[in-house]
Amino acid sequence: MSNHKELTQIYLDANATTPVLPEAASAAMAAMQTLFGNPSSSHITGLKAKDLMEQTRRRAQTLLGTGKGKLIFTSGATEGIQTSILSALIAAKPLVDAAPLSADKSYCVLYGATEHKAIPESLKHWLSVLDIKAEVIAIPVDEYGILDHEFISQHAANALMICTMAVNNETGVFQDLQLLEQTIRTANPSIFWMVDCVQALGKTQLDLQTTTIDYAPFSGHKLYAPKGIGFVYIRDSAPFTPFIAGGGQESGLRSGTENLPGMAALNVIFDMLLRSEGSAFSNTQTLHRFRQQIVTTLTECFPRIVFNNSFEHSVATTINFAVPSFSSKEIMDLFDAANIRVSSGSACSSKVTRSFVLDAMGLPAWQSESAIRMSFGPAMTQADVDTACARIKMASQALTQSCMVLAHNKISDKTQLEGLLQLRSGASCTWVYADSKSKQALIIDPLPELQQRLDTLLQCQQLTPIAIIDTHGHADHVSGREVLANRYLAEQDSDMLGWPYSSKTVSYAGAELEAISLGDLQLIKVPTPGHTSDSISLMLCSTNGEQPSTKYAFCGDTILMGSLGRTNFDSSSSVALFNSLKLLNRTLKADTLICASHDYNNEFTTTLATELSRNTLLKAVLQDQLSQTDFVKRKAELDSHLNDQTGSEIMCGAYIGSCDKSAILEYDASSLAKAIANNAGVKVIDIREPHEYVLTRSKDPNQNVPLTRLVQFIHDHQDQKDQPWVLVCRSGSRSMVAAQAMHRLGFAKISHLKGGYALSH
Ligand code: PLP
Repeated sequence: MSNHKELTQIYLDANATTPVLPEAASAAMAAMQTLFGNPSSSHITGLKAKDLMEQTRRRAQTLLGTGKGKLIFTSGATEGIQTSILSALIAAKPLVDAAPLSADKSYCVLYGATEHKAIPESLKHWLSVLDIKAEVIAIPVDEYGILDHEFISQHAANALMICTMAVNNETGVFQDLQLLEQTIRTANPSIFWMVDCVQALGKTQLDLQTTTIDYAPFSGHKLYAPKGIGFVYIRDSAPFTPFIAGGGQESGLRSGTENLPGMAALNVIFDMLLRSEGSAFSNTQTLHRFRQQIVTTLTECFPRIVFNNSFEHSVATTINFAVPSFSSKEIMDLFDAANIRVSSGSACSSKVTRSFVLDAMGLPAWQSESAIRMSFGPAMTQADVDTACARIKMASQALTQSCMVLAHNKISDKTQLEGLLQLRSGASCTWVYADSKSKQALIIDPLPELQQRLDTLLQCQQLTPIAIIDTHGHADHVSGREVLANRYLAEQDSDMLGWPYSSKTVSYAGAELEAISLGDLQLIKVPTPGHTSDSISLMLCSTNGEQPSTKYAFCGDTILMGSLGRTNFDSSSSVALFNSLKLLNRTLKADTLICASHDYNNEFTTTLATELSRNTLLKAVLQDQLSQTDFVKRKAELDSHLNDQTGSEIMCGAYIGSCDKSAILEYDASSLAKAIANNAGVKVIDIREPHEYVLTRSKDPNQNVPLTRLVQFIHDHQDQKDQPWVLVCRSGSRSMVAAQAMHRLGFAKISHLKGGYALSH
């Protein structure tokens, strides 16, 4: 995709992993090409390899002050964690077997609630494998992420092992290890204590011999060494059982031919950390200054930003924040477009959308759901920080331009909004229709989570809402209507759903119905009870002809994509729904776009024709094949299978649709280039949001149709269903979803770019 502008990458995700430092990469390369010997070989090549290995070990021992303790090379911290936990539990087992506690008390193992998942998972795994009956207990943390010492004092006496971390990977929060040691040892002098030091290396000073820490795992790839090398410290007096047996390497403590290239890289890193001059690493004071500069820029760009970590309690290299009314996915997409790499939620798993670390700290749910982590390493330079800050400013300007945040100074080049906008929070939708000529807007089903965004949008676009309406009294969430209506429509008299009393009467589908005007359009209210007794459908119609012609039908929860609204609420009536469905059938054309208030399966919109092809119940009703009584029976049966909760959302309709991914043609970069060369009709559509699009737009840009505007695009191109459009986004996931939605609506030649822009450069 050559016409996609690429900026140099700013990497701010060092707590996930780091690039290999050039000096370390050269050393690793030399260890592969010249110093490639097996340290166990007794010839000169082997001896040289062994010498490099032992020099690396000595440097690590000096750096960490290991004293008489052992230092064993591993494949990474996860292995170090296994080795430590396995060793401690094997040593503890005889005690548990020989001296069980009383019937109402059992042994336990303790770990910090914000620990990396490798800790509790390994504890559970080895307790089960070793058949040790011990409870796995999380030690709570306070709002700063500091361990509850009182809790440790209460539980440590019966604990076989305690696992804590020196520095947290999501927040950078450090524990006072000296104080922790006092608490632990006072409560239980013989408990095995492991400290995960992965995120502490190079960021805090460690002198392990002066502590009673029994095990301390480390990882190379978090500090500019390659993946696949780590090391673990074992206190002189701590029990040890080899985790990997075999050829007897590492004095029999960890078998397997050593990873010499990894060690050679670590050797360079240790040397840099030990040097006071000529190191690529900045000192702590400088790192603090870097963080402050980034924090100041973030605060200028996002004035409502909330920082999730206390800088006083965290190492200088981590910033964790959330921006109200932005999901972490949105910020990630924005920063990725500005070519700034950050991470979201629980950074170790891209699927998890909230942070268990921030949850454990008791932060509000939205902060955990919207969390973004920026982290850098000690090799960060002033130039990198300056570029990062310039890029953050670019990203925020792009947001301002697309009216996602309000500028302090009025922005002149903002994109004028015209037509339909679909906003969502989770699987619920808010619809906005803007008429740029009259500067009027209509808001349907405003979600409380979107209040701020709607407010910003209205102000930025200088739009006046003519009405803010709910399609029904929502059972699953509080409406955001009242707050917005109080702000914008304080003078307007309306009913409970926000329908203005000042409406007029028009003829529509053979009935006299209430209507209001929006520019040249009319919004007509059609009562469609069933899901709730107050349910209405709102028809946005053009009035050029004799009869109003419906552009969009906002049917709330009456007809949802792949389902019908549930009718088992107190104010529901399946008889009324039966009649409302028939009414909608008389009112709507087969291809009128139905805009529902939920979208559980990312389908954006639907039509009666699409629903008839897959919703057998609806089809039976609309084709008069089912009596009202039989409908009521079948609907009750369907609703009885409804999950009341999916995650935090109450399902408002049973989904019966399915999506066939194989129907969507997928291109990679080269097959797409060929298709474009061979067929002039193939057109690429960039479906990222406008702020992502402007950040990477080239001189010859692809058309931009953001997902929030997809329904409008579908409406405007209903007569071009044979166009070979290729949808493209950042990673290929949004484009696949949009292509499926359009395919379902009859766009037969829709396709997408697999892997998105990310894989096409
Ligand atoms: N512990 C912490 C705190 C970490 O951040 C990580 C890495 O994500 C690990 C353990 C696991 O390290 P490795 O990738 O070397 O197995």
